[in-house]
Amino acid sequence: MNLLVTGGAGFIGSVFVRWMLDRYTDYHVTIYDKLTYAGLMSRLEDLLKAETSKLSFVEGDICNSTDVRAALKKYNIDSIINFAAESHVDRSIEDAHRFVTTQAVGTTILLDEASKHGIEKFVQISTDEVYGDISFGSASEEDTLGPRNPYAASKAAAEMMVMSFYTTFGLPVFITRCSNNYGPWQHPEKFVAGSITKLLSGSSITLHGNGNYWRDWIHTDDHCAAIDLILHRGTSGEIYNICSGELHTNTHIAHLLLSMLNKPKSAIEYITDRLGNDRRYSMNTSKIRSLGWQPTRDLKAGLKETIEWYQTNKPWWTQLQSH
Ligand code: NAD
Repeated sequence: MNLLVTGGAGFIGSVFVRWMLDRYTDYHVTIYDKLTYAGLMSRLEDLLKAETSKLSFVEGDICNSTDVRAALKKYNIDSIINFAAESHVDRSIEDAHRFVTTQAVGTTILLDEASKHGIEKFVQISTDEVYGDISFGSASEEDTLGPRNPYAASKAAAEMMVMSFYTTFGLPVFITRCSNNYGPWQHPEKFVAGSITKLLSGSSITLHGNGNYWRDWIHTDDHCAAIDLILHRGTSGEIYNICSGELHTNTHIAHLLLSMLNKPKSAIEYITDRLGNDRRYSMNTSKIRSLGWQPTRDLKAGLKETIEWYQTNKPWWTQLQSH
């Protein structure tokens, strides 16, 4: 396979690139990334040095059809995995426009070029946030979407465009909806990475509102394993929920991190609630499990390992803390 991984300099995209290169020695991976504040070459440096014949990097915007077309042609791409996105909910509340441009317009340009190029597989990386608040029970793939913040709405818009290219043009598409990821290489603006790095720097964890927000936490490796499976064994036109079942309040996660780092309970600061904050997300994963996937990482073990990574890689995240 010749893969185009858009957003491959981001947190999950870069872990996915590593995952694929480790397992498929005959694949070629081309990373296509705009290098926004969230796209970091430091996540790829060692890979680009070691994998010169199997890995290429193109700095480019998915909103630029000429550059997308050139990359598809030059690297003879047969499959696209679209991670490229503006990914931080708080930023979407400040600047919704940028999110719509990247998610809705950018994904449409990518689909258009993919369709013209004759792409064999187009995998769209989406999120559980498209369901909106799930007060009780768990959302299934066929449930009605109800996104409630600009990030979630822009991701839902992208999904609609993906499905429209499946029905209108017969483009073989796959959509994944994953819960909250944690693991090495995550930008400290996100909750788990931010909490760990704040505690390691001697600051307090910040919790929105009363911290009583339920989120499912999945290690990035488990997410990547699911994408790998869908890329190879999924059915086109299908949507797949991905989550670990580790559904906890933010307060619970904060207390876990405090105890793992031997910090007092007083090292939590409650801050003004996020506007329109969804109380709870939860998904049914029987579809992806029927393909043979299951999460492998225990939350406590995964968090412990993640803490160790941030302890070892302090220079990497220190420079990001103020961005
Ligand atoms: P991230 O912010 O770390 O990375 C996003 C990457 O996309 C960056 O490298 C950035 O430079 C690139 N990018 C942004 N705009 C671009 C454009 N116009 N053209 C090309 N590249 C562009 O995000 P992440 O946390 O790694 O998330 C990756 C994907 O997974 C996103 O689509 C996100 O919506 C989805 N997702 C994330 C989570 C999570 O918990 N982080 C959960 C579910 C789904």
